[in-house]
Amino acid sequence: MHTDAEDTEMRRILTDDEHRTAYHRAQDIALRYGHQLTYPETTELVAAVLAAADVLTPPPTPNPDTCTAQFADQAGDWWQCNHNPGHPNIYHHTEEGEYAWTDGTPGTVPAHPTIKP
Ligand SMILES: [Zn+2]
Repeated sequence: MHTDAEDTEMRRILTDDEHRTAYHRAQDIALRYGHQLTYPETTELVAAVLAAADVLTPPPTPNPDTCTAQFADQAGDWWQCNHNPGHPNIYHHTEEGEYAWTDGTPGTVPAHPTIKP
């Protein structure tokens, strides 16, 4: 099992407004050079460039079928914990065990509280 916690000390997550501004700026500059970027191209470009400077784009809406804790890798791609919702372990991890992290690690999002029926 691999942990990137020690590599994530300085990371912060953009606000939605900051992300929107960065997204449009990337599209504007690409267009200036004759390239019309698609949504996935722009999203990946912005996430990768910002991640290189320890800044993360906001995480996607998590899938509610597993624990909703999220972690961003060094490329700025978000991963979701694969445990059951509300699991008692302090470690979250991805399905294949590529990443493991704990709540409070910079650049991660803790699980949403589970709603009791
Ligand atoms: Zn978890």
